[in-house]
Amino acid sequence: MVCIHCGRLSDSLACPICTQALQDLSYESQYRQRCPDCGRPQLDRAYPCLFCQRGIQAYAPYTSVVATLLRQFKGEGQRSLSKVFAPLFIPMLASIENPLLIPVPASNKGFSDRGFDQMLLIARLLKRTGGYPYLRLFAQEGKGQSKFLSMRERQVRHTLTLLPLNEKAIQAKKSGHTFVLLDDIYTTGATLSLSKTLLAEAYGIEALSLVIAMV
Ligand SMILES: [Zn+2]
Ligand SMILES: [Zn+2]
Repeated sequence: MVCIHCGRLSDSLACPICTQALQDLSYESQYRQRCPDCGRPQLDRAYPCLFCQRGIQAYAPYTSVVATLLRQFKGEGQRSLSKVFAPLFIPMLASIENPLLIPVPASNKGFSDRGFDQMLLIARLLKRTGGYPYLRLFAQEGKGQSKFLSMRERQVRHTLTLLPLNEKAIQAKKSGHTFVLLDDIYTTGATLSLSKTLLAEAYGIEALSLVIAMV
């Protein structure tokens, strides 16, 4: 077979060179500094840590091999790339106590264009390969409103909605799980911020967020 990224002959989906390039691009490899409070990679201690401030961690910036692979995954519907992306979450999950994964659902258009829900695929793989439990708590095409939402959140609100209260999620909260939202690309942060607000309203929990790439 050939590498999905560079087209060189390869035994794996992404060849060793591209796998290495993916690793080298990560914040973990690029940033020397670590946040003194949470230990996550940080460009400079003069800037606030995104994880400590807003509970968000990204694997890498949205550029080069990460951006190309994400475009192939989402834009061209290459679902096998979930096998390349799912393992990127494992080191980020390692420092979170008892995580319960909550995939942010694909937009209706995205889903119908590519025929799969990319973060759900990744959550399923993380369950199968890493034993991480996940729950689907959101759906697209919501109609409700919330007085706690900002203007920007209201703009995405008409597409993202919370499913009816999930008994398993209530149990997970009681048993001390950390709710972890999974998304692919962080741009304005509106979707994650909205998801977090909806979870806080419905379940009274403060969710963390992990993403593959940050724009
Ligand atoms: Zn390659
Ligand atoms: Zn921190």
